[in-house]
Amino acid sequence: MALIFSLGNPPIQAKNINNLLHIFRSGLPLGMAPQCPHITKMPLRPSTDASATDPRQLSEAEWKARLTPEQYRVMRCAGTECAGLSPLNDEKRPGRFHCAACDSLLFESATKFDSGTGWPSFYAAVPGSVGTKRDASFGMIRTEFHCAQCGGHLGHVFEDGPRPTGLRYCTNGVALRFDPA
Ligand SMILES: [Zn+2]
Repeated sequence: MALIFSLGNPPIQAKNINNLLHIFRSGLPLGMAPQCPHITKMPLRPSTDASATDPRQLSEAEWKARLTPEQYRVMRCAGTECAGLSPLNDEKRPGRFHCAACDSLLFESATKFDSGTGWPSFYAAVPGSVGTKRDASFGMIRTEFHCAQCGGHLGHVFEDGPRPTGLRYCTNGVALRFDPA
């Protein structure tokens, strides 16, 4: 049974108790966010290109220059944007969603669905575009997912999504760039 509470407008619907906790805690001040998991600790796809433009070679100073402060907080320090803020929640046009940090293609609009959570949600990522790892922050066991190309944090994956995958990629809109078809 879905949990519905009246914070925000429209009211936010939580899929389960973990999701409810996630929603409540995502609004915590920055100082209470989980420790920044430095990007080099993330499991990354093996490099086949050692060029200077490889996003995995960028320094934190270069990331700060490339991203907005909110993008940096979310993508480099595993932050979560407040629910309901992203204009991409209401984006229903055909098109493609790219990583805001490195422009890698992550999601096709055909896999986007209205989860009612306040975050852009997809039931499938483009094959090979994201990696996952276990996240035990905030007393919850969740699966974090990130861009396989640059390692930037994108959101969490839950197993309460629609068919055909049953997955819900709960994504920070600030970590995405939409490209209309
Ligand atoms: Zn990326």
